[in-house]
Amino acid sequence: MSLAELRPWIAFGLLALLLLWETAKPFFANPGGRGRLVHGARNLLLGLGNGLVIALVFAGLWMAAAQASEAHGFGLLHRIAWHPVAETILVLLLLDCWTYWWHRLNHRVPLFWRFHRVHHSDPHMDVTTANRFHLGEIVFSSLLRLPLIYLLGASMVQLALYETLLFAVVQFHHANVSIGRRGDRVLSWFIVTPHLHKVHHSHWQPETDSNYASLLPLWDRLFGTFRFPERPASLRLGLDEFSAPETQTLPGLLGTPFASGKRGAGPRDERE
Ligand SMILES: [Zn+2]
Ligand SMILES: [Zn+2]
Repeated sequence: MSLAELRPWIAFGLLALLLLWETAKPFFANPGGRGRLVHGARNLLLGLGNGLVIALVFAGLWMAAAQASEAHGFGLLHRIAWHPVAETILVLLLLDCWTYWWHRLNHRVPLFWRFHRVHHSDPHMDVTTANRFHLGEIVFSSLLRLPLIYLLGASMVQLALYETLLFAVVQFHHANVSIGRRGDRVLSWFIVTPHLHKVHHSHWQPETDSNYASLLPLWDRLFGTFRFPERPASLRLGLDEFSAPETQTLPGLLGTPFASGKRGAGPRDERE
């Protein structure tokens, strides 16, 4: 069975495991009962829609970019002749470095932030939030992947490997769980942990604008945006400008990029 065939099973298994963990030992109090069910269903529906568009539209385009790069002998990996393992490590690092800078751009460029704030407006972050992205953000990031794949000369196997690692770590660090302060601090040298990413979802902007990494926290340490929370339990999550119940419905989430909610409106610039 190839990695591509295994991926849906890995995704489903991991999601089920993390949902069970969150239910058994949640870090923040759950909305509970029907509220939790509706919240999770909305986030997963967004993720499912995005997954379909990627599978039906972008996967084919990414493959075409990889094939064109190989045919032209243009991409970086077609010009160097390293050991396949070294080449794969290099491509994983470069892809993850791009993911870090793309995420920073999403916070910096007003147009991109309009779409990205759908991910941040969740006041009850849990594993389902890992899948809560506006289709617009997925379209932007998927299109920008095309020149990147061409320039790197990455193969579809390397891309699938990166996507699988990324998916697993992203689901884990959004989950409403804790591995303890000590455990989190040790693991945060290797992968982005639940405590690290909770800071990124803080309602307070200086905290939101930190810990941008998705797989390797190395980039935040390297580029000066790393922030380890002293008291993660005291963090308040979400966006003040999108806290009204109507902004959390499916039409509200889809309309978020087109709403006027100004960043920093309300008490968001002050630590409470
Ligand atoms: Zn973000
Ligand atoms: Zn997130």
